[in-house]
Amino acid sequence: MRRSLHRLVGMTAPRLSDTDADPGSDTGSDTGSDADRRAVLRAGADVAPPSPERVHRRVVDWFGEAARDLPWRRPECTPWGVLVSEIMLQQTPVARVLPRWEVWMQRWPTPTDCARADPAEILTVWDRLGYPRRALRLQSAARAIVDEHAGVVPETADELRALPGIGEYTAAAVACFAFGRPETVVDTNIRRVHTRVFSGAALPGPTYTAAQRRLAHDLMPAADHDGGALACAWNAATMELGALICTARSPQCAVCPAADLCAWRAAGSPPPTESQRTRGQSWKGTDRQVRGAIMAALRDGAADAGAEPGTVPATVPATVPATVLLDGLDLPEASAEQRRRCLDSLVADGLAARGGEPGSAQERIGLPGTL
Ligand code: SF4
Repeated sequence: MRRSLHRLVGMTAPRLSDTDADPGSDTGSDTGSDADRRAVLRAGADVAPPSPERVHRRVVDWFGEAARDLPWRRPECTPWGVLVSEIMLQQTPVARVLPRWEVWMQRWPTPTDCARADPAEILTVWDRLGYPRRALRLQSAARAIVDEHAGVVPETADELRALPGIGEYTAAAVACFAFGRPETVVDTNIRRVHTRVFSGAALPGPTYTAAQRRLAHDLMPAADHDGGALACAWNAATMELGALICTARSPQCAVCPAADLCAWRAAGSPPPTESQRTRGQSWKGTDRQVRGAIMAALRDGAADAGAEPGTVPATVPATVPATVLLDGLDLPEASAEQRRRCLDSLVADGLAARGGEPGSAQERIGLPGTL
């Protein structure tokens, strides 16, 4: 049942001008009831929300022309490729994911290849994508796919959700983007677009609320007459609009396909309230920075083991004395206590391996599987 997202868009979203008979147009022949409209106005905006059908058409039409040509959206991409991309894209921008995804898929084109891989290689290929536990969780999912699904990525959101490390978002996204199933997909970008267009608020706030979940479900195009093709295109198109146009800090309303329908814009683009703001996570001086530096040092050790820069070593990477590793971190502001705490947490998370007694002269550290 694998379907190309591009094909879905072409099939379900023939271009309609605003004067075409657009079912659900809020300029006259609207088929949506007042109750339907009230159902999507959850946040108390003073401006009436637009009809979902009209927004669907605008945004999906725009997506048909403006969508980025990303390898995981191409017809030849496998469901495994889609799953890998969805895990990598959590908390990491597309530009940084692209080269890592290419290397990953070259090296492990199927779940079976990934399941057999050395965890040290997995973490080395993951490189600087951040949150490296995602890499090990992806391998755990690959192993479950091999053990429980004969190496074939399952199609339904429930089956995907049952895989280790796969959450509600990823399960819905893979079921939709890889298999054309009309699941409700909600990521940060989609939540922001829904909030602005239909609720008239500037930002959705840090928490995915029950009201936002209901709104997302209410907004999904019906799947009974097209098998869910428009619903899947709507998910992808809204996500792309949030990533490219309706960004958190500087939405480009002047070029937005939904500009004249958007409740936030109609309300005069009010600024975010204090509770809607999301505090940016600081990086400098945090344990995340120190953990990242330790992982980079371990991977660099792997690179020193004989590989060309940017590639993966063929040999098992070297281990290093813990004192050399921790004293050698180029982080003058990180205390010895913080370095030690971060190293211990990486070992506890299974991202690093330790030989010898902690704190002893024999203590050595390496990537998983090296000790
Ligand atoms: S008009 Fe502006 S705020 Fe509204 S959806 Fe478009 S970019 Fe976002």
